[in-house]
Amino acid sequence: MSEFDTVIHGGRVVTASDVFDADIGITNGRIAAIAEKIAGGDRRIDAGGKLVMPGGIEAHAHIAQESSSGLMSADDYYSGSVSAAFGGNSSFIPFAAQHRGQSIADVIATYDGRAAPNSVLDYSYHLIISDPSVSVLEELPGVFARGITSFKVFMTYDLMNIGDGGMLDILTVAKTHGALTMVHAENNDMVKWMNKRFAAAGLTAPKYHAVSRPELAEEEAINRAVSLAKLVDAALFIVHVSTAGGAAIVQREKLAGTKLFAETCPQYLALTRNDLDRPGMEGAKFICSPPVRDVATQTALWRHVQSGTFESVSSDHAPYRFDASGKFANGTDAPYPKIANGMPGIAMRLPYLFSEGVGKGRITLQQFVALSSSNAAKTFGMAKKGTIAPGFDADIAIWDPEMRRTATLADQHDNMDYTPFEGMEIEGWPLLTMNRGDVIVENGELKAERGRGRFVARNPVDLTGKPGYRAKEFDPAQNFGAEIAP
Ligand SMILES: [Zn+2]
Repeated sequence: MSEFDTVIHGGRVVTASDVFDADIGITNGRIAAIAEKIAGGDRRIDAGGKLVMPGGIEAHAHIAQESSSGLMSADDYYSGSVSAAFGGNSSFIPFAAQHRGQSIADVIATYDGRAAPNSVLDYSYHLIISDPSVSVLEELPGVFARGITSFKVFMTYDLMNIGDGGMLDILTVAKTHGALTMVHAENNDMVKWMNKRFAAAGLTAPKYHAVSRPELAEEEAINRAVSLAKLVDAALFIVHVSTAGGAAIVQREKLAGTKLFAETCPQYLALTRNDLDRPGMEGAKFICSPPVRDVATQTALWRHVQSGTFESVSSDHAPYRFDASGKFANGTDAPYPKIANGMPGIAMRLPYLFSEGVGKGRITLQQFVALSSSNAAKTFGMAKKGTIAPGFDADIAIWDPEMRRTATLADQHDNMDYTPFEGMEIEGWPLLTMNRGDVIVENGELKAERGRGRFVARNPVDLTGKPGYRAKEFDPAQNFGAEIAP
């Protein structure tokens, strides 16, 4: 028996700060040693000529989740985690979604039942709240105590939109407990008004989805969400920023010290509204909200990726098959508002970001690690994940930076019947994924057992370096002495 269960040797190690040649010794699922040369190891993995990076942390994925209209996503915790692992991820944080009237205890129990027996990767949940009633708000402290330290709320979709007052209530409770509120920011009434106009004109083809949700609808909602969070000085995370204007608001507010975090997604860097204008109903494959935009937006979003506006590039994996179980649940010629919203991408997030980012000189290897793993670990409080250092979980992905692949459905290993990335030329591919020292995927083969993944209890959000905003209306010196706390 060696001192180490596994030694990864001969590779080039990348963290969010450094690139260096070293061996890694792993014991009991943790990184135990990093040195120029490490002998021994019950198993030795040759990483010569390869990159050894922290396994990705996918912070935005819809897995075994019903949409508000009751449609189940195509991937469960098994296929979703397997697909994530093939894409270089060692853990993920899908959503546990409350539907109106449901107690939070019931929501968590439901998702525990879906995740624990099935996930091959470590996982946590963001709790989606669609009904911030008094009894729901009273349940939230118990959720924090379990280590679920992030929520998501919606400003759009009639069955999810909680209104500005609901958001203020949730932001305030979240702040008390050190939780992070995530928001889908689109102006619901602008979108509904546009939909009415298009319907009246008989314009119902998939392509009109792309123009039914204006850039201004996102920009307005981001600005409003930030204002609501600032009023109560609470932390806010803007998910899937799809517009240059929205990203500019995030950048400006970060500079001002607002307690703000944000992400964008590969589809907003890779696709445009022209993809929704493919023949027949093909465009339905590219329907997601907010919609993909245009080339100018892609250029602007890359600049924001490069300059730190976004903590992460996340997939927003929302898998609905191109059949009656998914996209066409309302018929094969359904008008665009009745076509399921969302696209898959959990296995392509990192290969795409590596190829287009690192491969094309847009970002450094260290930025790739930050955007794919380290920042998510810090933002969402996964204390033992997101880097390669002694004492951390051995969550590692070994990449061949030169492997060329043409993206295909077969490479996704999900339950889907299409990938929006089909045919894209990718350079750089994950060969081996490890979670807590266990090899999950190696050379295109799944090595892990269903249900081996563990729930990860997460820490409160760290707001160091974000001074925040003090609304003067809460200051007794400026509000006629009123003692009113946000
Ligand atoms: Zn999403």
